[in-house]
Amino acid sequence: MALEKVRNILADADKHQSSVIAFDAMDYPTISSAIYGAEAARRPVIVMLYPAMDRYMPLEAFASMVKNLAAKVRVPVGLHLDHCSDYDYIVNAIKCGFTSVMADGSMLPFDQNVEFTSSVVKAARIFDVDVEGELGHVGRGTNTDDYTVEESYTRPEDAAKFADITGVASLAIAIGSAHGVYKSTPKLSIERLEEINKATDIPLVLHGGSGIPHDQLAQAFKKGINKFNVGTEFFKLNQTAADEFFKLNPEPETSFDHIDYVQRKLQDYIEQKILLTTYEV
Ligand SMILES: [Zn+2]
Repeated sequence: MALEKVRNILADADKHQSSVIAFDAMDYPTISSAIYGAEAARRPVIVMLYPAMDRYMPLEAFASMVKNLAAKVRVPVGLHLDHCSDYDYIVNAIKCGFTSVMADGSMLPFDQNVEFTSSVVKAARIFDVDVEGELGHVGRGTNTDDYTVEESYTRPEDAAKFADITGVASLAIAIGSAHGVYKSTPKLSIERLEEINKATDIPLVLHGGSGIPHDQLAQAFKKGINKFNVGTEFFKLNQTAADEFFKLNPEPETSFDHIDYVQRKLQDYIEQKILLTTYEV
C-alpha cells in the first residue's frame, strides 16, 4: 500500500492499547529488512532516518526508497525523520518527501523548546506533515544519571501545556529510558507514564529502546506508549552479522554473499522484535 501517515499508524496503535515500533535505518538492507520483517509479522512499522546518517543515504533517496518499498507490502509503513534540532534541515526533509518529522528541542529551556517546536509545527502544517516533539530530555545509556534521576523525567503538567501550545502530533517523554547501550538495566517509571497519559491527549513516544526488559515494554505499551524507537540494537546487529559471516566464511565465493546473510539476520530480528506489539494488521 501507499505510505501511511504516521498519525494514522499511531491512532491505530492507541486504539489497540499498543505501540508501533519505529526503526532507524540507513541503507537498502536496513530499510528493506525493516519493511519486509514487518510484512512477515503482519505488523505496522515506521522507518526513520537519523540526520547524521544522511551521508550514507541522502534525504530524498531515503524517502523515495521507503515509499517505493511501502507500495510493495500490505502492512502500513510510515516514514519519519528522527531527532532534529535544525529548522532548515527539517523543512528540507519535508521538501524531500518526509511525511513525519521530529523537532527535538529537549535540550532547550521549556519556553525555547515551545518556541522552536511551534515554529516547526507551523511550517509542517502547510504540507500536512506530522511533528513529534520531545519534553524532558532522554539522555544516553552510558550516563546512568541520564535515566535514573527522576527530577529529569517529564512532568505531566508540563507535557499537557507543551502539547497544547505547540500542537505536536506526538510527544517523546523521559520516564527512565536512554539512548544507546545501558550501563545498568533501566527501570521505566510506569506511574509517571500513566500520569502523563492522563494529562495529555496525544500519542506518547518512548526513545532509547535497545535494552529495556520486555516485560517493562509490554506495560509501557498498555499504559500509553504508542511509538517505540529502536536504533542501536539494530545497527549493532548489522555489524555483528557481517563479522559472523566472515568468520564462518573466511573465503566467500563472491564479494556479495555477506549482504544476503546480513539482510536475513536483520529481517529475522525485526520479525521477532516487532512481535512485542500486540495487534496484527
Ligand atoms: Zn531518540
